[in-house]
Amino acid sequence: MEIPENVQAVLKTLESAGHEAWCVGGCVRDALLGRSPGDWDVTTSAQPEETLGVFGPQGLPTGLRHGTVTVKTPEGPVEVTTYRVDGAYRDHRRPESVAFTRSLDEDLARRDFTANAMARNLRGELRDPFGGREDLRRGILRCVGDPDRRFQEDALRILRGLRFAAALGLEIEPGTASAIRRNREGLADIAAERIQTEFFKLLPGKRAAEVLRGYPEVFGVFWPELLPMVGFDQRNRHHCYDVWEHTLRALAASPEDLVLRCAMLLHDVGKPDSFTLDEQGVGHFYGHPAVSRELADRMLRRLKCAAGFRETVVRLVEWHDKDIPRTDKSIRRALRALGEEDLRRLILVKRADNLGQAPACWDRQKELDKAEEILDKLLAEDACFSLKQLAVNGRDLLALGLSGPAVGAALEELLGKVVDGTVPNEREALLETLPRACRTGGEEEVT
Ligand code: ATP
Ligand code: MG
Repeated sequence: MEIPENVQAVLKTLESAGHEAWCVGGCVRDALLGRSPGDWDVTTSAQPEETLGVFGPQGLPTGLRHGTVTVKTPEGPVEVTTYRVDGAYRDHRRPESVAFTRSLDEDLARRDFTANAMARNLRGELRDPFGGREDLRRGILRCVGDPDRRFQEDALRILRGLRFAAALGLEIEPGTASAIRRNREGLADIAAERIQTEFFKLLPGKRAAEVLRGYPEVFGVFWPELLPMVGFDQRNRHHCYDVWEHTLRALAASPEDLVLRCAMLLHDVGKPDSFTLDEQGVGHFYGHPAVSRELADRMLRRLKCAAGFRETVVRLVEWHDKDIPRTDKSIRRALRALGEEDLRRLILVKRADNLGQAPACWDRQKELDKAEEILDKLLAEDACFSLKQLAVNGRDLLALGLSGPAVGAALEELLGKVVDGTVPNEREALLETLPRACRTGGEEEVT
């Protein structure tokens, strides 16, 4: 494992001052897995004041209460935390107090999983008191110590465990797995933001679908809306899987991307609520995208997601069942409504939705290939689908005597004509249609 130079320098500085210093946690785990670590955390025997003393103005007291000093380096900040043991836990959340210790092994013992409880120093020595390396070699995720106790101390570890299983492809050791199920209700005490962080690292994971399939009741603690999907028989010959199994297959078929995975998880969440049976005993889900949209919006708000993220996901959910556009005009209309990025996402959503159905239905992919082909062609020829591409702008209309909201309405109407192909995107041609645009005040149907 090559420790980055700036991190090496931090370790050296601490050691030269007579302290112990190790890289610890996720970076050691990721390096052993051959993955490049996101951040390099350092743990040290130095007390926080000693760390501050050693680094002088380079050190910032960002979390002294927990023993953390952030060291500024040219390549970015490095967190240096004093060896620590946790005090008593309250409400399945963070410890009430922490105490510093001079023992690395005690610090490692407070960490959640064996794979996360290893340290490595400048000379490449590995400290691994709980067999994390062997567990990783065998592809196993296991709690440090008694799993029930560890999950009762801090229920977020339940979700972290599922996250590591999904993202790193680890198998959860049976004792740890049953403790995850037994202690799941503790998640109800965890702040939405912390749940969101772990859950959103889980969803893009390569084994996210397997983990969701294995532990729906755990995710149901914060998203109970998922649970009616489990085992919900669609009673329709187009659907050989129940709603949950279809959802998971569609999710697995989508790219390892958070927005798309979130849209796939939620696209049919409104199906159980929209179910009807016809006289032939065939199941239907009329209007389910709108119901899914409402539920998805509520669920994402509960997790305190960023507004932009939430809006993108619910839009994909709302649009997922619309017909695949296959003409220049319908693709231009879709581009106008969604923009390029979200239309490309919608195509991926529709691909995944289709791949989540029985293989006999997969020839739908060809229609999506066609839609993508037309989209690429239109973009290559710089087709107009937004106001900023329109050959006239607000100033042109003001100059012609329009004012106020009429300007925006007229521009939208002109854009509608260009998108529909009834007028070319040329200044002269557009201005010629204007008297009519003014007369109708932009109220004419444009879509
Ligand atoms: P990532 O790759 O996402 O950064 P990570 O394992 O490094 O994963 P962090 O949140 O950065 O996760 O935490 C760093 C280390 O701190 C972990 O590897 C683990 O040793 C310890 N840790 C973090 N959260 C907990 C927790 N809730 N309980 C016990 N130990 C924890
Ligand atoms: Mg980390």
